[in-house]
Amino acid sequence: MKILVINCGSSSIKYKLYHVRKELSNVVYDSKDYSLITKGVIERIGEKGSPVKNHRRGIKALVSDILKKGVIGGLEEISAIGHRVVHGGEAFRQPHKIDARVIKKIKECAQLAPLHNPVNLAGIAGCLKFFPHIPQIAVFDTAFHQSIPEYAYMYPIPEVYYERYRIRKYGFHGTSHQFIAQQAARLLKEPLNRLKLITCHLGNGCSIAAVRYGKSVDTSMGFTPLEGLMMGTRCGDIDVAAVFHIMNKEKLTLTEIDEILNKKSGFLGVSGLSNDFRVIKKAMRRKNHRAKLAYEMFIYRIKKYVGAYYFILGGADALCFTGGIGENSADVVNNVKRDMARIAKNKTRVLVIPTDEELMIAHLAHKLIATTKRR
Ligand code: ADP
Repeated sequence: MKILVINCGSSSIKYKLYHVRKELSNVVYDSKDYSLITKGVIERIGEKGSPVKNHRRGIKALVSDILKKGVIGGLEEISAIGHRVVHGGEAFRQPHKIDARVIKKIKECAQLAPLHNPVNLAGIAGCLKFFPHIPQIAVFDTAFHQSIPEYAYMYPIPEVYYERYRIRKYGFHGTSHQFIAQQAARLLKEPLNRLKLITCHLGNGCSIAAVRYGKSVDTSMGFTPLEGLMMGTRCGDIDVAAVFHIMNKEKLTLTEIDEILNKKSGFLGVSGLSNDFRVIKKAMRRKNHRAKLAYEMFIYRIKKYVGAYYFILGGADALCFTGGIGENSADVVNNVKRDMARIAKNKTRVLVIPTDEELMIAHLAHKLIATTKRR
């Protein structure tokens, strides 16, 4: 069977088309069961001068792109579509087959992710038009973290804000953390439900999760992807009172301070050079003080979370790294590894595992179809 995975961003749609070798029988992930047929991206959606005016039209462009490549005989060969959806709020703890009720709930969650869920929904609407008769499955970035206990996901503010606006930790990168946890279990040759893992997704966005027996019990991102580690352009953890102070002194609006903390902070803000970790490292080698400081702050903050999660889990069988930085920057991994070896007396394995969120979405969609068919 063939599964198409769609990932709609604000101005792009990425896709990957997989061939699934085992026909709806194997519900345990095995990389050998999946092979990539083709992948692509439709860019500049809705931008000035672009022929692709919106995400619905983007799906049309994507369909022609696949057909033009001649990698499949016809659209009827595609048996299911997996959609990445950024925010599933408290409504979705796992992937769901898309129907009118699920669409309504994703719309409700759009209040929590106003930039992302609407484009995800537009992609879904476009696909429903082209592929009205095949199952479409929504896989949520937040779902894996829905197992986090109440005492870890609530913020210590008046309860009324949770009641009114559902202010709490949701966490993101869930599909990646889940994939890495499964891969770690395979590498360690142990069942996932016996392992304590700390998974670090370090890309442009960065987050760490504590995974106990296959379930996320805490993660560094929060109500939005702004909380937690220092990132390419996001500040991560900061004293909120410092934010009020800056707003007051500089007479900033909410939109302006939002832009500063989300788009102008992190590596970019501290170094004054770039959000790109490779540029920071290059400048650091040239003895640029601010680049060195950004690098040291980044690693220090990773260690704070790793230390906290090691304590919360009561030890860890493995510390896993993924994402553009985690997979490619051995110096970051080795720096944390050295301290972990000292504390854990070499009992915690350190693993570098390439993430593949689209593959995980294909697998989760496949698994959902397989299990619902069996019932
Ligand atoms: P995204 O979160 O957008 O998917 P990636 O996972 O691709 O991003 O990660 C992007 C980050 O990875 C950038 O900061 C980039 O500098 C860093 N990166 C990519 N390749 C390397 C490398 N070889 N060494 C160090 N950092 C790298």
